[in-house]
Amino acid sequence: MPATKDYWPLVLANLKDRVTTDNYQAWFSRLEFIKTSNQGRKITLSVPSSFSKKYIQTKLKDQLMDSLNKFYPQVIHLDLVINQNEIQQEQVKQQVLANLESPEEAPQSSNTSKKFKTSYLPGSNLNNLNPKYTFDTFVKTSNTELVHNVTKAVSEKPGSAYNPVFIYGGVGLGKTHLMQAVGHKALENFPNLNIKYIPCETFVSQFQIAIRSRTMDKFKEHYRSIELLLIDDIQFLSGKESTQEEFFHTFNLLHQDNKQIIITSDKAPNQIAGIEERLISRFSMGMVVDIDTPTVEDRIAILNDKTARMQLNLPDHQILAIAERINTNVRDLEGVLNKIQAKMTFSLKNNISDNELQNILEVNDPGSSVKIEYLNNPSGIRTQKILNTVCKYFGYSQDQILGTGRQKDVSLARQIVMWLFKYELEMSYPAIGKVFGGRNHTTVMHAINKVDSLTKKDTKLKQKINHIKSTSKKD
Ligand code: ADP
Ligand code: MG
Repeated sequence: MPATKDYWPLVLANLKDRVTTDNYQAWFSRLEFIKTSNQGRKITLSVPSSFSKKYIQTKLKDQLMDSLNKFYPQVIHLDLVINQNEIQQEQVKQQVLANLESPEEAPQSSNTSKKFKTSYLPGSNLNNLNPKYTFDTFVKTSNTELVHNVTKAVSEKPGSAYNPVFIYGGVGLGKTHLMQAVGHKALENFPNLNIKYIPCETFVSQFQIAIRSRTMDKFKEHYRSIELLLIDDIQFLSGKESTQEEFFHTFNLLHQDNKQIIITSDKAPNQIAGIEERLISRFSMGMVVDIDTPTVEDRIAILNDKTARMQLNLPDHQILAIAERINTNVRDLEGVLNKIQAKMTFSLKNNISDNELQNILEVNDPGSSVKIEYLNNPSGIRTQKILNTVCKYFGYSQDQILGTGRQKDVSLARQIVMWLFKYELEMSYPAIGKVFGGRNHTTVMHAINKVDSLTKKDTKLKQKINHIKSTSKKD
């Protein structure tokens, strides 16, 4: 039996479908399941603030109860409690201020996060590394090859390989993961190294607090003793002139002392607006590397790795369908896998149907339809029709066309089939490769380009293909 909390993601998914995105984000997305009690008649959820508690109770209770009852049919009482974590965070904020005023009593806020110990307090000796983000859990892909090699090198020789390392790219592509992987590896190699991961936003607010509470000395001392500084999302320095000034000095001191600095950003150094020229030039003086979006092959590799770790058993055609559809970033791929896992837990099965997957993918990206059936069933109706028509037209058997024989005409017929799969059925290169016995996508791409260029020159061939096209559409 699944635990009662396992149904909770489904309630959220249901709410997401029922209310507007804004409403969902504002009121439901931060609800957390705490427990059910009284033989399932009462459910306790946590809300981020007393304000949202009130709002939900007065305006959204019916909707919430409706969705809850779909998955927790016995529930009649709803108990909303204010999230302890949020309260703690508020307390930690207070502690920061208190600590800055009386530095001797540096609090160790190790319980601020459930998942891993973090403390962004200037006095803290915690490194804030998330244990999940190691090189071991990072899948090597074509879009991250260079940055992977650079960060690996830096973790072996912090301060002397490349300094600073500036990593940039869009959201969810692995910047934070990789920079923290360097921290873990460096710690393994040099257990006494003073390492600190810090989101730039936090650096900025610490700086502001230090100014207000006149504890700049402590702030400076803290940052200048770091030997491996991982500063995430540096674009947050934009427009913050005095923080930039302080960061500039910290940077120079660390750099002169051969202390390693790794910086991430959503843009290339010279593309970040509102940052002083002298900082931009510091950012660019070591190694600047970008992370591009993953290709479909990369996405397949990532999905295979993640599903294995999550013990999710998905057949190849479903992996392919997800990789085809979710072409944004790795975080979104993870989102889909989490939904699949929730679905399986709920249905007590260890697989999901193509339809269910299709629904999950549609919710993720409404508007376009997945063609899982083609991927699932390469000899499905439409693929089969195209194949038959080409076979008839050229006088070859299906085996010959799908095989590897290299006679000129068979090759051409095969290339035409690939071309039609691409343009008529909008199949991807890897999916087409799969139909043709697992051929490499570059072979498929080459074949399709070839037909493209042949039809430009050869009008007769173009007519032939048009004829095949229309015949294959007839019943
Ligand atoms: P960014 O900092 O670029 O916005 P993150 O480092 O937070 O992105 O990555 C988003 C999520 O995707 C994280 O959970 C991370 O572990 C995962 N991720 C990104 N790239 C990879 C990869 N190549 N292999 C495994 N997981 C990855
Ligand atoms: Mg990040």
